[in-house]
Amino acid sequence: MIHEILPVGPLQCNCSVIGDETTREALVIDPGDDIEDVLALVRKHNLQVKQIVITHAHIDHVGGAMKLRATTGASILLNQNDYALLKMLDVQASWLGMADPGRVEIESSLGQADTVRAGTLVADVIHTPGHTEGSICLYFPAERKLIAGDTLFAGSIGRTDLPGGSFDKIISSLHEKVLALPDETVVVPGHGALTTIGEERESNPFLVKR
Ligand SMILES: [Zn+2]
Repeated sequence: MIHEILPVGPLQCNCSVIGDETTREALVIDPGDDIEDVLALVRKHNLQVKQIVITHAHIDHVGGAMKLRATTGASILLNQNDYALLKMLDVQASWLGMADPGRVEIESSLGQADTVRAGTLVADVIHTPGHTEGSICLYFPAERKLIAGDTLFAGSIGRTDLPGGSFDKIISSLHEKVLALPDETVVVPGHGALTTIGEERESNPFLVKR
């Protein structure tokens, strides 16, 4: 598995470029910004981007998706419960003092138990509402790797005070779905350092059993 993680934009969203070493097919997850840098990684590995997956419709995760689509022709996928948030990108841009990226066209929704592929690589979609209603994580079972979006961070969890957020839902998503994964699973959060499920199960103050 080729896996490059590039922090993009002012909020340093972790954008992942994931490619199959044999077929050179690739997925890009959360191309929030800095699309020239993302494309440089795609070219460095001689990859063909087939799909663009958005973990949730916050501007720092989706802002560069249309620019990446224009260059690669890849389709953009997002859970349908975040379509309403996607229509508010202009409002989100004004909160952060960023430029409005304009309309983002979604090819289809990704939901619980769907799978996403790049060549022989397979990821299971886990619907994890809480940070937003349509938040998803991508789990690569063969590689024991989780792309967590803003649901889980090293030592913390996603904020739930923005529109569509729910503390009760994110806690349920984490306990019922995310912590069901094996301890050795490497977690790539939407921002900041990598961690593992075991580490978070052991020490994340939001997750340890009281
Ligand atoms: Zn977010």
